Amino acid sequence: MILEKLKNDIVIGDGGALFELERRGYVSAGPFTPEVTLEHPEVVRQLHVDFARAGSDVLQAFTYYAHEEKLKVIGMEGKLKEINVNATKIVSEVAKEYNCAVAGCLANTWMYNPKDKSSDKETRRQFDKQIEYQASEGVDFFIAETIDYQGEARIALEAVKSTGLPAMITLGFKYNDKTLDGVVLEDAFKELKDLGAEIVGINCFRDPNLMMPMVERLRNAVDGYIAAQPVAFRCTHEKPYFQIQEFNGHVAFPLELDPFVLTRTEMGDYALKAKEMGVNYIGACCGADPHHIRSMAEALGRTTPNSKYSPKLNLHPILGDKDHLKIRDERIFTEQRGEKDSK
Ligand SMILES: [Zn+2]
Repeated sequence: MILEKLKNDIVIGDGGALFELERRGYVSAGPFTPEVTLEHPEVVRQLHVDFARAGSDVLQAFTYYAHEEKLKVIGMEGKLKEINVNATKIVSEVAKEYNCAVAGCLANTWMYNPKDKSSDKETRRQFDKQIEYQASEGVDFFIAETIDYQGEARIALEAVKSTGLPAMITLGFKYNDKTLDGVVLEDAFKELKDLGAEIVGINCFRDPNLMMPMVERLRNAVDGYIAAQPVAFRCTHEKPYFQIQEFNGHVAFPLELDPFVLTRTEMGDYALKAKEMGVNYIGACCGADPHHIRSMAEALGRTTPNSKYSPKLNLHPILGDKDHLKIRDERIFTEQRGEKDSK
């Protein structure tokens, strides 16, 4: 289903479920584990609905960090199966309703150690477990994300390939263009393609402006389907990834990122640039909410289920057109219209 969708058109991804559910109060910042899929499934379901109605073609199972290494931190490693199965059930139901593809989701394990070959086996085992439980509920493909070691990406790819389902492998780059084990991005993606990844891409850490030059290099390096999933938190050339932005003199991650959220217009502009660049899978990551996704979809010329509620500023009593204006105070009227100096 995902390959069919990619063959026919650009595929729009979904947003940053982990950060949005944290903001809504259902994920604890720190462990960032997805036990909410068991404890408040209706909340997870609603967010999938929100992304689907905003125009996402793919919904990702909310299984980020639903692996043993992370569940152990909150004493819930015994719930590994239930969390993965439940998350996939929830997302599959919503995807069916909105004709979306379902992505199983794998994240970096925090287990993999490039200096310890014996960690390969355990990393693979943890991926296999998640894959087994998610695949049992029927996913269309798997996304492995926020992976910053080429070695771990290889293991994730092999694990996904063993299912026969399509693999989307995305790498994250923080301060430079190499994986943490020193592979430059072109070589990293060429290798993953050669090893059979159907889709390769860059995700998380960087905002669209700081990620797109890397995406362009990726586009030039490989044929076939590529993906971009930047964060919707503003970064700078000096601080190119969102976890090191500073607010009030200290690092803002993860509790004070609100002032860095990009506007929907910026995310819409990013979607257009990605299209021009030849990106096949245009998604987003941390900080990206349904309103961002809807703007991206609309920038790409789509009408989404919730386009019904898209802005109709012409109907606003101050910002609107002349048939809808209600001028009660001249100063407020001109200030809000941005016409302060024009008189
Ligand atoms: Zn992210």
